[in-house]
Amino acid sequence: MSRIAIIGGGISGLSAALRVHELATEQNRDVRITLFENSDRLGGVLRTERIGEYLVEHAADMWITNKPEANGLCERLGLADRLIPTDAKFRKSLVLRGGKAYPVPEGFQLMVPEQAWPMLRSPLLSWCGKLRLLGEAFVRSRRDGADESLASFVRRRCGTEAFERLVQPLVGGIYTADPEKLSLKATLPRFIDMEREHGSLIRAALRSSRAKSSGTSGARYGMFVSLPNGIEELVTTLTRRVAEIADIRCASPVQRVAWMPLSEGSDEDVQATFTIDSVEHFDAVVLAVPSFVAARLLAENHPGFSNELNRIEYASTVIVASGHRLADIEHPLDAFGFVIPHIERRKLLAVSFTSRKFPGRAPDGHVLLRTFIGGALQPELCELDDAAILEVVRRELSELLGVRGEPDFIRVLRHTRAMPQYHVGHLDLVARIQGEMQKTPGLALAGSYLTGVGIPDSIASGEAAATKVMTCRNVSRRSNSST
Ligand SMILES: Cc1cc2nc3c(=O)[nH]c(=O)nc-3n(C[C@H](O)[C@H](O)[C@H](O)COP(=O)(O)OP(=O)(O)OC[C@H]3O[C@@H](n4cnc5c(N)ncnc54)[C@H](O)[C@@H]3O)c2cc1C
Repeated sequence: MSRIAIIGGGISGLSAALRVHELATEQNRDVRITLFENSDRLGGVLRTERIGEYLVEHAADMWITNKPEANGLCERLGLADRLIPTDAKFRKSLVLRGGKAYPVPEGFQLMVPEQAWPMLRSPLLSWCGKLRLLGEAFVRSRRDGADESLASFVRRRCGTEAFERLVQPLVGGIYTADPEKLSLKATLPRFIDMEREHGSLIRAALRSSRAKSSGTSGARYGMFVSLPNGIEELVTTLTRRVAEIADIRCASPVQRVAWMPLSEGSDEDVQATFTIDSVEHFDAVVLAVPSFVAARLLAENHPGFSNELNRIEYASTVIVASGHRLADIEHPLDAFGFVIPHIERRKLLAVSFTSRKFPGRAPDGHVLLRTFIGGALQPELCELDDAAILEVVRRELSELLGVRGEPDFIRVLRHTRAMPQYHVGHLDLVARIQGEMQKTPGLALAGSYLTGVGIPDSIASGEAAATKVMTCRNVSRRSNSST
């Protein structure tokens, strides 16, 4: 029998555990899985809580379906029939300008106006800004394929106003990032391809048949799903399954992972036995923890590798979840939420009208709001204590949405160093990290800091890590010998 350790019980680690088991079953191998989790619960940042009649997500509240891994996992867990789409009734986003929220012009997809007329009628840009944005079709294209920040790319192609008023809040909202540092290649490479292949984003969009029929704006909300009991339903179902196949150890923070080559000298023959916290031995290890934790665990054995992992920065955010009577809010809340450009000099990043996305998450006549602050552009706000955060949020919700009276509940949810930042050069950095990883076949990394920040990406990274450790010679040799 071979022994595999998975460190980290978030969605990446849980997915890795299930995939190891599935591969072992397919290949008729005897593998023992141990999952170590720091906290006393599994799921990592993913958590759903019932507060009275409200269903409150602590972090993610939906996932995108154009990446297949999350839906694929749901299918394998018997959850496919339970997936729910976002409510079509309010499927749009608003952006703040001059203290007032306006809809993202129809057909505007993150940085491309696919339709001219709604853009020309929108109060979100001045006439100069609109003409400059539509002039994107005539801007000379860059085809060298070099990595570039989101800010540099959008200013160059669409103009400063479109960047500051639309793209920064819409894209910044997804990545809670500093757009001057955010790598376009690592986050939204399709826009680089559009420039390279068609010479312009607008021309590329006009040529795409998808563009002509999409009819949506901002985030492509029609592509997102959740589950009736929230994201926790995925976590609990997956956890139940993993508990049947693995030894799960909660409240077990790993401090150190070390390994010793079994046979020295010959390159591909070098196999490692991994030692966790100097006591337990494993044939392979999946590190499904944030990169700065992985760096710490590997520091003693592999300082160079650890330094590379430490170069990935993280941002923090605070979500204030609150439940209100609709009668206490002046704004009609006829959207999924609004985002706030940095240039508006507000403290809030965005407000999600959460129960508009998924009805039934607030009692009748009430609404669930999730207000985001902090992120890479205003990190100091995450340092405030709860009372100061609540004061900021209440004041701005009152000014921007006309929220009055006492909420049914209000809760501060902190996410410290929870959002990996894909800075320019990220893909090269990850390639170097993965290159180092190849030198130790029994070691694999998983998590949202590698090749995508969302739930489907995290699941994909866990499954890829499982595949890697299952093909290493330590595991195949030992598990084969027992069959
Ligand atoms: C506020 C917020 C909102 C988000 N919204 C969305 C969204 O709407 N849609 C979407 O698709 N994605 C969203 N995401 C991203 C998504 O939630 C993450 O990509 C994903 O959950 C990351 O999972 P993970 O397992 O890689 O990491 P984590 O969830 O961070 O899990 C890592 C685990 O490792 C454990 N650990 C740490 N150190 C140790 C140690 N020494 N020993 C053992 N265990 C350890 C931790 O306790 C944790 O359980 C959001 C993220 C955040 C923070």
